[in-house]
Amino acid sequence: MEKTIIIGGGLAGLISAIDLAQKGHAVTVIEKGNFPRNKVCGEYISNETLPYLRSLGIDPFAWGALPISRFQFSSPSGHTATCHLPLGGFSITRRKLDFELYQRCLKLGVEVITDTEVTEIKREGDEFIITTAKQNYHAKLVLGGFGKRSKLDRALDRPFFGERSSFVGIKQYFKAPYADDLVSLHNYEGGYVGVSKVEDGLLNVATLVEKNAFAKFKNPAAFMEYLLESHPVLKSELAGAQPVLEKALVISNISFAPKKAVESGVLMIGDAAGMIPPLAGNGMAMAIEAARISAEIGNRFLNKEIDRETMENHYERSWNKLFKRRLFWGRQIQKIMGRPMINNMAVRGIGLVPGGLRTVVRLTHG
Ligand SMILES: Cc1cc2nc3c(=O)[nH]c(=O)nc-3n(C[C@H](O)[C@H](O)[C@H](O)COP(=O)(O)OP(=O)(O)OC[C@H]3O[C@@H](n4cnc5c(N)ncnc54)[C@H](O)[C@@H]3O)c2cc1C
Repeated sequence: MEKTIIIGGGLAGLISAIDLAQKGHAVTVIEKGNFPRNKVCGEYISNETLPYLRSLGIDPFAWGALPISRFQFSSPSGHTATCHLPLGGFSITRRKLDFELYQRCLKLGVEVITDTEVTEIKREGDEFIITTAKQNYHAKLVLGGFGKRSKLDRALDRPFFGERSSFVGIKQYFKAPYADDLVSLHNYEGGYVGVSKVEDGLLNVATLVEKNAFAKFKNPAAFMEYLLESHPVLKSELAGAQPVLEKALVISNISFAPKKAVESGVLMIGDAAGMIPPLAGNGMAMAIEAARISAEIGNRFLNKEIDRETMENHYERSWNKLFKRRLFWGRQIQKIMGRPMINNMAVRGIGLVPGGLRTVVRLTHG
């Protein structure tokens, strides 16, 4: 049987592995980390993913996901607008979600190689050679699910890797009373912060902030403390929030530069194909959708219904059709987020127009 290798066992990688394995293919996932593990992420997923997840036999609510139906948005000065989400969504920790998907992979016979970093991808004729420190692997089809930034991007000479990125992401869990069905997004000078409940009564607080605004703080936890005390809405709604003992997580060098969906014959999935600003709350839905189309088109290639060139063209076209518009609007909205005065006016304007906030949400969702 022809082998598929998926580089990266994140959301996109694990779900495409499940799908291809269920379609009867031999799949190996190579992941540089291990499971279970925590991740910088707002952990809100749009319901647009549910039909596909259910078709794979995945029910996030059986794993403790909470349904989310309302969205609140606030400006730096504390103006707020709230709406019912057009499709709704759910929240679940990445620790739980990725671990359950990993377990599902194992049950389906997917080979998952952890603690192993891929350092090079080479093509020889119709075969790929995947290099890791321990050994080389051979595959007919390779999916690149290695996330927003990896040493592999440099090895593949992807242009965005050399560009400077000025964003840092931080996540911390708190204990505080908060509505189960609400996801909120609060803008402040230099960034924005999302808040939602996840399982086990935890409150996820995740922020994207410009490097300069973060630099004067000693550590990510100190920055979070400052945010919760200084933003007018967070200050009133999360007064007395207690940080959970787990450390605040931080990642840097987050880039939203355009990328290619197919690179050197590898079908890129999830953030490796393009990252939408987190304010859209749609990166995970995009990763799941990309898993779906890569498995569908990859399946036809592995079954010899289409040749490699057709597979690559078809995947690139489908990817652009599904995601280009969301990425465009995500970037435009993020630009407004960086400007408090415009943002204050925008929130007031949105609040005055019936359905205004729902329209903004629709622009960044499928
Ligand atoms: C602050 C912040 C908040 C966010 N909030 C939300 C939100 O609320 N909702 C939402 O939908 N999205 C959100 N996102 C985006 C979301 O987290 C990503 O879009 C999503 O995780 C992408 O999944 P992925 O599978 O592409 O990548 P990942 O989940 O990052 O997985 C990539 C995997 O590849 C592995 N890897 C990397 N390099 C290699 C290598 N060379 N060899 C082997 N393995 C490798 C990594 O260890 C990792 O496990 C947020 C992002 C940030 C930064």
